[in-house]
Amino acid sequence: MTASLVVQTSFLGDTVLTTPLLAFLARSGPVDVLCTPAAGALLEHHPAVRRTIPYDKRGGDHGWLAMLTLARALRRERYTSAYFAQGSVRSGMIGWAASIPDRVGFATSAGRRFYTTRIAPLDNVHHAARLLSLGTRDPFATVPTADLRPRLYPGERERHAVDVLLAANHATNDRLIALAPGSVWATKRWPYYAELAALLADDARIVIVGAAADRALAEAIAGGAKGRAIDATGKLSLLASAELIRRASAIVTNDSSPLHLASAMNTPTVAIFGPTVPEFGFGPLAERSLVLGQASLACRPCDRHGPRKCPLGHWRCMREITPEDVARSVRHLTAGGMAPTLSIL
Ligand code: SF4
Repeated sequence: MTASLVVQTSFLGDTVLTTPLLAFLARSGPVDVLCTPAAGALLEHHPAVRRTIPYDKRGGDHGWLAMLTLARALRRERYTSAYFAQGSVRSGMIGWAASIPDRVGFATSAGRRFYTTRIAPLDNVHHAARLLSLGTRDPFATVPTADLRPRLYPGERERHAVDVLLAANHATNDRLIALAPGSVWATKRWPYYAELAALLADDARIVIVGAAADRALAEAIAGGAKGRAIDATGKLSLLASAELIRRASAIVTNDSSPLHLASAMNTPTVAIFGPTVPEFGFGPLAERSLVLGQASLACRPCDRHGPRKCPLGHWRCMREITPEDVARSVRHLTAGGMAPTLSIL
């Protein structure tokens, strides 16, 4: 039987998008995942994962000695294959130093010299499909759409945490609409969540999801929501946030991690793309989703991640998406309307 190691130490959204690869590999044998401690928590209870191996590359595991210690520990596991979903030189070296005989990664990765099989990644496909091609070893392999959707598995602890939060806000049986206003990149943060919350507050309880760093944004949004908002920012683990998103009728999110949590929980999604576009491979994968973006803006996309500031100064890609546009999209989704993934602006 094969035993596989998947190396994924990138952003949390990338970890979520790696889960179709994990499910594919688990059909052939046990799968361990080398990942950040935060990503390890996100993969808890995942049926495709035998165990996660925490690697805190920017913290306690920084440096050569920690890397070699890790490689020695991995060698003892006698993995037959390693799959590099994160392609740094350091990751490649770890796989090589761990004497894993079959090492599969992307031909464009910085660590490619350490791989025994290099896969040419396709542009213009979803990143989940790109990552899955490491497992199929064929970027052109036909994969059923359902196999591309990521999956997360909140457990009893996460369900309980959400129950407690909702009960504390007298919202146990209320209809919820989730808003996820944060992003690491400032230009990817749509600026009208507070106005949107005011528009939707009569439809449902507004629940604001995000990290503790999003607290100020959440307070501004809650202020406009007629006392109908629940601020969950910084109050739940990532996996519990996924559970909360699962319970929502819909989520409105930027091009950031909550979008991928929503895909994993199959929550109807309105995704707002400003300086980036879903064609980069990070659009929603929930069965019912809408992408809002200024398709006719010539300067868009202007950056793979979203610049710190709009280089043209006007930030029209976000400012011209109105709260009314977004509220209409949410109502369309929650009314059960047909909702293919498309740009409607
Ligand atoms: S240059 Fe265009 S796409 Fe980039 S941030 Fe400014 S408005 Fe948005």
